[in-house]
Amino acid sequence: MEFTKGRKNKVSRLDFIKLNGLAVPAFIFPNNLTYFTNHKKMNLDKKFDTIIVGGSYSGLAAAMSLGRALKKVLIVDGGKPCNRQTPHSHNFLTQDGKTPTEISTIAKQQVAMYDTVQFFKGQALQGRKTENGFEIEVNSVDIFSANQLIFATGIIDDMPAIKGFSECWGISVLHCPYCHGYEVRNQKTGILANGENAYELAKLIANWTKYLTIFTNGIASLTGEQKSKLEKHQINIIENEIKSLNHQNGFVKNIVFKDGTTHDLKAIYSRNSFKQHSNIPALLGCELTNEGYIKVDAFQETTIEGIYACGDNVTKLRTVANAVAMGTNAGMSASKKMIMQQF
Ligand SMILES: Cc1cc2nc3c(=O)[nH]c(=O)nc-3n(C[C@H](O)[C@H](O)[C@H](O)COP(=O)(O)OP(=O)(O)OC[C@H]3O[C@@H](n4cnc5c(N)ncnc54)[C@H](O)[C@@H]3O)c2cc1C
Repeated sequence: MEFTKGRKNKVSRLDFIKLNGLAVPAFIFPNNLTYFTNHKKMNLDKKFDTIIVGGSYSGLAAAMSLGRALKKVLIVDGGKPCNRQTPHSHNFLTQDGKTPTEISTIAKQQVAMYDTVQFFKGQALQGRKTENGFEIEVNSVDIFSANQLIFATGIIDDMPAIKGFSECWGISVLHCPYCHGYEVRNQKTGILANGENAYELAKLIANWTKYLTIFTNGIASLTGEQKSKLEKHQINIIENEIKSLNHQNGFVKNIVFKDGTTHDLKAIYSRNSFKQHSNIPALLGCELTNEGYIKVDAFQETTIEGIYACGDNVTKLRTVANAVAMGTNAGMSASKKMIMQQF
């Protein structure tokens, strides 16, 4: 028996029950992690082919490839994707303008259709190399084992000590013009950076608006040549130290300086420093690049055999599309390696 969903998508009776069994709690608990359930309630297995730590865009894409390759997968996810505060996500084909939660909810629904994939909501606390593979310890009591690990754990953006900055992050304080520049095109815009970073960002953002000011938050460390090029493009440099961002619900109104003066604007670009969201890969011996990303090869395998990494934790090319592409690559590569070894 088949149930028809929408016009074209036909789902089997079993799939229909599975989907609706999961859809009901989704209404009761409007949390994007409905699929990530405590294993004591779900009787999760303990042994898997692959454990994926991080179940956002990259981890879910890896899980789909592995699930479709009939591999037994556990996704462990703490539910803190880096873009969770942004109202709308852009530049991901077919999902342009959707909320981050809408995109991940569809992804989770689709991954949950593969019955070899299981979900665990919570933090992976530790990882260990064992004789036959790896172990992941979650919530201090439970330990899962697998032949392979995939880390899709993302990064954590450091927030500068400016009052109001973190509240505006992803709403009007932006990391990337390709994700959010179109929405604030031709608006009064700031760049919060100094030196080479500020110069490079200014050259880029000048494509989206001509009302651009660099805020160095202290003495500018730009070269004379950079300053005169910026001047030629009518890009001002303000060195006043910043006290706070005055905003309403994350939408910035003006920058407040320590001397009491203010500067009105609609958007600010900021390149923050970051740290890895999980230190487990490094503790397992995976090498990091000088910039702090996990080193991977063309198949997303780290410097430790059997451990893969994908998404924001390996690259500065930070978009949902890229995270999904790398996750797909990691899932395909990891499963293919296992398939070939087991033949
Ligand atoms: C504010 C902001 C706005 C953005 N807007 C856009 C946009 O409009 N368009 C676009 O294409 N891109 C956008 N991006 C970039 C995009 O969000 C990222 O590239 C993407 O989220 C990366 O996906 P990921 O799966 O690698 O990591 P994340 O989405 O960050 O997910 C990592 C997951 O791993 C989990 N995790 C980490 N450590 C552990 C652990 N030890 N145990 C269990 N779980 C763990 C986290 O809880 C999280 O759920 C934005 C980024 C930011 C910061």
